[in-house]
Amino acid sequence: MPRDDATKPRRTYPTPDWQRRGADCVWLPYTQMQNAPTPLPVVATEDVYLITDDGRRLIDGMASWWTACHGYNHPHIRQAVESQLAQMPHVMFGGIHHPQALRLAERLAELTPGDLHYSFFSDSGSVAVEVALKIAVQYERNRGHVGRVKFVTFRDAYHGDTLGAMSVCDPVDGMHANFRGYLLDHYSLPIPKSPVEQLAFEHFLLEHRRELAGVIIEPMVQGAGGMKFHSAQTLAAIRATCERLDILLIADEIATGFGRTGRLFACDHADIVPDILCLGKALTGGTLSMAVTQVRPLVFKAFLSSSGPPGKIQPLMHGPTFMGNPLACAAANASLDLFESEPRVQQASGMEAVLTNGLEPCRNLPGILDVRCRGAIGVIQVSQLKELNWLRQRFIDNGIWLRPFGDIIYVTPPLSISPAQLEQLLTATVKTVREWCERVSVASDGD
Ligand SMILES: *Cc1c(COP(=O)(O)O)cnc(C)c1O
Repeated sequence: MPRDDATKPRRTYPTPDWQRRGADCVWLPYTQMQNAPTPLPVVATEDVYLITDDGRRLIDGMASWWTACHGYNHPHIRQAVESQLAQMPHVMFGGIHHPQALRLAERLAELTPGDLHYSFFSDSGSVAVEVALKIAVQYERNRGHVGRVKFVTFRDAYHGDTLGAMSVCDPVDGMHANFRGYLLDHYSLPIPKSPVEQLAFEHFLLEHRRELAGVIIEPMVQGAGGMKFHSAQTLAAIRATCERLDILLIADEIATGFGRTGRLFACDHADIVPDILCLGKALTGGTLSMAVTQVRPLVFKAFLSSSGPPGKIQPLMHGPTFMGNPLACAAANASLDLFESEPRVQQASGMEAVLTNGLEPCRNLPGILDVRCRGAIGVIQVSQLKELNWLRQRFIDNGIWLRPFGDIIYVTPPLSISPAQLEQLLTATVKTVREWCERVSVASDGD
């Protein structure tokens, strides 16, 4: 058999009954499987579109959970991954260097705020958070502070689904009730916004200093915990407090990194440098699973044997099998090329005004509590997400893909979306939300 021509992109189409046959065998995320609505059958992507097996093209208003920052199937990323696949799909990172990972590490050191110089690669955001937490604990231990193992985290925080990451999520909103006794105990505080709250925050840290390994925050925008915003001043004040008290600050920019908030990194809004930074989601331009935990020399040096008495300093105890995967690194390098060659961050910052104007008509609809936008994030907060399945289906019927959850309907489109596509997305969003509000308010009139 002749080999396929590798230069030509090839589309494969599944058998007609693929969905019916396989649906019975998969377990969906966060889904009651008893009577889950049938998921959207997507067989291809292109630009900002999801293409279904019956040929419908939906504008993806979610950028596949914030990952597809350049839209889908960008030829530059595809070409980079294809040549890497031909050259070397994977090698272990233990004892081996390879060009894609080293190039990526060097570029991230350059691009990220301040002196965040060292990259530890992993395979998903949750793992990057686990690594950050472990680094902080081992950092304190290497400095001779045994017992500094607790973290301060914030209300509405979301940091991932693995044990350590789940433990620093919002304890009410998060999954704590399901895992009582299994999760680790940390301190969840409101984000200190006023000077009085900031003083109380500082007192809390002082009081608990001996047991704390760090503070973890999603800078500027808390994502999956409810899309809450705080100001650059608030972020700067938290940074300053941690600095004063010599407590590590971990910035989880897995969602906000790579332009989403209108700056390349959310920390840039406040001009701060966290001690540890987590990146993921858009890192590979929405193609492969990869994340990174970056640290400053201050942190890195505490792991060098020369920094303590003989035999006392332990190396970082982590190492995922697919760490530094060359395909994912190639995708990430190609994605960074696009941030250099295309006006991605300007598109994101410019989107804030368009989202604000476009979603404004929702503000006065019944049951809508708030409309807020930052960068390429538009949020409609509702009093209650009734008839959620109806709403989700209605978005699809109106030609767009959105996935409201909790008490919010939100849009986070690919940063590369064109003005016309964005207008189409926002028009369909407002139309659908209006239809939903009418339906829900009529239903509650009848109660
Ligand atoms: C998505 C997300 C994570 C988890 O990343 P996964 O790749 O899903 O494990 C962690 N923190 C934040 C802020 C996120 O948005």
